[in-house]
Amino acid sequence: MPKLSIRDLELKNKTVFIRVDFNVPLAPGGQEITSDKRIRASLPTIQYALDQGAGVILASHLGRPKGKSNPEMSLKPVAARLAELLKLPVKMAPDCVGPEVAKMRPKPGEALLLENLRFHPEEENNDPEFSRQLASLCDAYVNDAFGSAHRAHASTAGMTKFVPQAAAGLLMDRELEYLTKVTKNPARPCVAILGGAKVSDKIEVIENLMKLVDQLLIGGAMAYTFMKAQQQAIGKSLVEGDKVDLARDLLARAGNRLLLPADHVVVTELKAGADSRVVREIPDDRMGVDIGPETIDAYCKVIAQAKTIIWNGPMGVFEKPPFDGGTVAIAKAVAASSAVSVVGGGDSEKAVKSAGVADKISHISTGGGASLEFLAGMELPGVAALSERQPSRI
Ligand code: AMP
Repeated sequence: MPKLSIRDLELKNKTVFIRVDFNVPLAPGGQEITSDKRIRASLPTIQYALDQGAGVILASHLGRPKGKSNPEMSLKPVAARLAELLKLPVKMAPDCVGPEVAKMRPKPGEALLLENLRFHPEEENNDPEFSRQLASLCDAYVNDAFGSAHRAHASTAGMTKFVPQAAAGLLMDRELEYLTKVTKNPARPCVAILGGAKVSDKIEVIENLMKLVDQLLIGGAMAYTFMKAQQQAIGKSLVEGDKVDLARDLLARAGNRLLLPADHVVVTELKAGADSRVVREIPDDRMGVDIGPETIDAYCKVIAQAKTIIWNGPMGVFEKPPFDGGTVAIAKAVAASSAVSVVGGGDSEKAVKSAGVADKISHISTGGGASLEFLAGMELPGVAALSERQPSRI
């Protein structure tokens, strides 16, 4: 059943609590925001609520203050930046619960930012009394923090029990729309591309996608654990010795749906300017750092045929050019395809951006861990807690 969206709510003269993701990177000292990307990502939902005539309460965590107040993880700098972006004063609350905060209830068209939710241990403990106190601040609840939806915390899950309706914000809505589109009855052929360092991080994702996709293209260091399971030479490449048996089992079950690299860019040591070469068989003294041209070609052909593409994880050590060649080529192929494409994970996002093709991807997920759990077929507590949209309203 689709989830209730902020667009379904009657917000005029209501106080709406929006759980946003303002977990921004801060320079040491906690005064300066080094990237306001997450603040910008939440603007459409905040602006929508303000335009509808709501008073808006914004709440987020920032960093890991471990349940204690810490001025270096205060959301104050975020209030200042948000005010600039919204071109509207944003009041900063001294805390996220309590009588003083309750008195600051914003009027229609006003915005109030609560202090860091994780200054209270009750947030991460999903404490019912804390949840009730948060809920008492508002008339309506909206969750726009997809990146925190895999956590059952008070502000992402617990407080929804104490509000009449819990709706998805515009960002959350878009995440759910695209992630659902590519995993439930996707247009075929459906192709998943998985890379990155470890098989162990993505076992559940591989297991789940294996049931869904027509082809699974593997790159990055995780390919070497699969190659070892096939008794192929992997030289000094990164491998997870304790996952080789599992990789063998996955290979047997996936059959010819799972493709591994046929050639590799290899080096003797991983450093800039290293002597690199392309090989089909990895020599003992070398390690694989990228997929080779033959593999790029084969993978790009599969991608060109796809109607649905799911991509998570780089094809090589893409942070160190020229070992970004495979990842960039895949980014361009995904962008050139007419398929519905969903890219997840910070590294794949960086890759599509550095390849200059981010605007040609249907959806770039904002939640690394949350999108992986979604792709693994798990129910995200922050999504499960949202109200269902009644069929009459669709
Ligand atoms: P993950 O966080 O699992 O998506 O892994 C991303 C990391 O995997 C990046 O930092 C890459 O540098 C690394 N990676 C990808 N391919 C390789 C490889 N062949 N050897 C070593 N590290 C790799």
